[in-house]
Parts: sequence; structure tokens; C-alpha cells
Amino acid sequence: MEIDYKKYLLNATFAWVLVVSASLGWNLFQIQNNKHDELLETARSFFRQTVITWEWNARHGGVYLLVRDGLRPNPYLEDPERDITTTDGQALTKINPAYMTRMISEIVYKDGKVKIHITSLNPLNPDNLPAPWEKRALQLLQKGGQDEYFESRKDGNTTRFRYLAPLVTEESCLICHRKQGYMLGDVRGGISVMVPSRNKSNRPLFVSHLLIACAGVLIIQWFGRRLSLATEILKRQSQVDGLTQAYNRHYFDKTLHKEWLRSRRFKTPLSLVLCDIDHFKLFNDTYGHQAGDECLIRVAHILKDTICRPGDLVARYGGEEFVIVLPETPLESALVVAEKLRANVENLPILHRASPVNRHVTISLGIATTIGNLLSEDDLIAVADRALYQSKQNGRNRATMGQTI
Ligand code: GH3
Ligand code: MG
Ligand code: MG
Repeated sequence: MEIDYKKYLLNATFAWVLVVSASLGWNLFQIQNNKHDELLETARSFFRQTVITWEWNARHGGVYLLVRDGLRPNPYLEDPERDITTTDGQALTKINPAYMTRMISEIVYKDGKVKIHITSLNPLNPDNLPAPWEKRALQLLQKGGQDEYFESRKDGNTTRFRYLAPLVTEESCLICHRKQGYMLGDVRGGISVMVPSRNKSNRPLFVSHLLIACAGVLIIQWFGRRLSLATEILKRQSQVDGLTQAYNRHYFDKTLHKEWLRSRRFKTPLSLVLCDIDHFKLFNDTYGHQAGDECLIRVAHILKDTICRPGDLVARYGGEEFVIVLPETPLESALVVAEKLRANVENLPILHRASPVNRHVTISLGIATTIGNLLSEDDLIAVADRALYQSKQNGRNRATMGQTI
């Protein structure tokens, strides 16, 4: 089975980039979520703190402060005891919850740019008229169904988080607000809190994910290439004979079948040459098995070097026998090739002093050719084998054409 490594590598790379992108998306989403939760909690804290301050003042029926340093009596506070004078002549004015909250909110704004605003759809003090978003929020809260409102607005590189929760009328509030028609538990208005927050750059997150993505892609490519190389080596090893490096019998069988099918389909001649080293047993006996191996390697080499047309194939058929597949080659041309093979082996020259045929190592060859349906694969080999036998019978170191066409 052929493995398309390029496709696998591409798919793995694509999957990796997808995973890293998903991680980046998830991180950005989490950052956004955490920031939102943090701003909401901050706004709620300011709101609670303001309400506590408010209630503290209301429970005491307001507090008196010395009229000095720009502190003016509250013009919207209708109270006969709003302004009093101490026995030693110092002017005091009553600070009601709303006034006190306004004064504190000025300090909070100066300190941290957090804006706290008391607001109402029906304010006593025109300063407490709602901004458009506060009006929207108050109307929404009045409808019921939710007990706080918040929204977040981006403004350049700052996010402004807006929060508004209702001010519910309590006993202490009725002192001032009864005349507006409010009853206990009514929503009189709300306190809005606006928390600004600088938007942090997400560049480090983008850069780190880009680096992770690139590193992953490089690793995938590196492993992929090594795997592809290892598979190539394994494939090659499964196709060649370990000793002679000629193709092995299995590869020959596959190739012959493929070429035979092509010959049948396109009606082109297909030739086969079987070679057998003459008196090789004697060679082994004379020079030893190692020298025999060396001889096989050299013969295989010269056979491969002699065969030069693309598509031609030299394989070790077994022992000291080789087979050559010559596609699109008629019998006469195959004979020419066979003769060249024979001559080249003889001229190597490898000394074979025990051979009764020649001073050097020689080969005998048998040739067979088929075209179309003339011979089956097995018959093609059988005809070449018979021809090789003929060569042996006729004195070796020769090539014989098989008798078929
Ligand atoms: P003929 O001329 O009739 O072909 O005689 P032969 O001696 O070549 O044929 P035979 O079939 O009698 O002997 C083949 C020898 O080839 C026997 C075997 O030891 C040797 N042989 C087969 N494979 C190898 C191998 O891988 N290495 C070595 N050194 N010898 C091998
Ligand atoms: Mg033999
Ligand atoms: Mg032999």
C-alpha cells in the first residue's frame, strides 16, 4: 500500500494550526470574560459601598458639617433645621445622604476616575437627571425582571463599564421623599457606577500562539520527512536482494505481472532473459563461499550496468540465477541484449580456473518473448528456462532463443 505522506503532512499541519487557533480563540474569550467579571464585581463593590454610606447618613437623619472651604448648604434640601449655628457662632449645614454621596463621588472620581452618579427619572436636583444610557437602564429596571443593569463600551483603548442598580425607598428616605409620592419599597432612582479600564494588548498572546504554531509545524514537517525517508528505505529494502542489490524475486514477480498485463493490453512484445552462472558450484568449491558472494555481486552489477533502457529490470531469480525483464522488446532485440550481457560478464573478467568452459566466469542465457495473449506469465518463464537449458546443453557461455514465435 502506498502512503501519501504529503497529504498526511498537510492534514497534520492543518489540524495543528486549527488546534492552536482554537486555543487562541479560547484564551481571548477567557480574557474577555474574566475582564468583564472583574469590572462587574468592581462596579458592584462601589455601588454597595455607596449604598452603605447613604444608609449610614439616612439612619442618622443627615449629618452636620461646618460651612467652609467651598461647602455650601444643599439648596434642594427642604428642612427647617438645614442651617444651624453653634453656641460659639460657627455655621453648620445639614448634609443629607444624596449630598454626601455626591461629595464622596467627587473624591472617588479624582482618585480613580470611577464615576458614581445618583440618578432618577424624577430627580429633586437637576444634576441628578439621567444620562441617555442611565435613562434606558432605569426604564428597564422599572419594568422589573432584573435588579441590576450593566453594559460595556469600547472607547479607543479604554473600556467603560457602566453599571446601574436601583435605590429602593426605605423608612429613612421618606423624610425627604414622601412629598414626591414615594412609598416604602418604591424604586426612587438608581446609583450608576462607571468604571474605566485600559484595554491590554493581546499581542503577547498572538505572538506566543504564532510561535507555538510555527514550532509545531516545523516538528510535524521534520518527523514527517524522517518517517517518509524511513518508509522509503524500508520499501527499497523490501524490493531488493540484500547481497547483490538487484531487485528480489518478489519485486520481479510483481513487475512481470504488471508488464505482462501491459503487453496483453497494448499488444507490445515482452521479453524475458534468464541467466545462470556457469559452473558456479565449482567456483565456490575453488575460491570459497565469500569469493562466490563477491562474484555474484560483480555479475549483478555488470548486468545492471548493461541494461540501460528505462523500464528494463534486473532481478535475482534465486541462487546464481538472474532474470531480466525487457518490456516492449521483440525476440531479436532481446537476443542482442542477451549477447551483450554474456560478453560483458565474460569480459569482467573474474578468474574461474576450475571451469571447463572458459578461464573466466561466464553465464548461459535463455530468452523468451510474448505478445498479447501468446504466453502466460508461467509459460514465458518456462520457455526462457528451456532455452537456458539448451544453452547449458550446447556448451554454456551462450544465449538461446526460446521457440515460441
Ligand atoms: P551450471 O553450470 O549447470 O549452472 O552449474 P552450477 O554449478 O552453476 O549449478 P548448480 O545448480 O549445480 O550450483 C549452483 C551453486 O550456486 C550452488 C550454490 O552453492 C551456489 N550458490 C547459490 N546461491 C549462492 C550465494 O548466495 N552465494 C554463493 N557463494 N553461492 C551460492
Ligand atoms: Mg542454477
Ligand atoms: Mg549455474
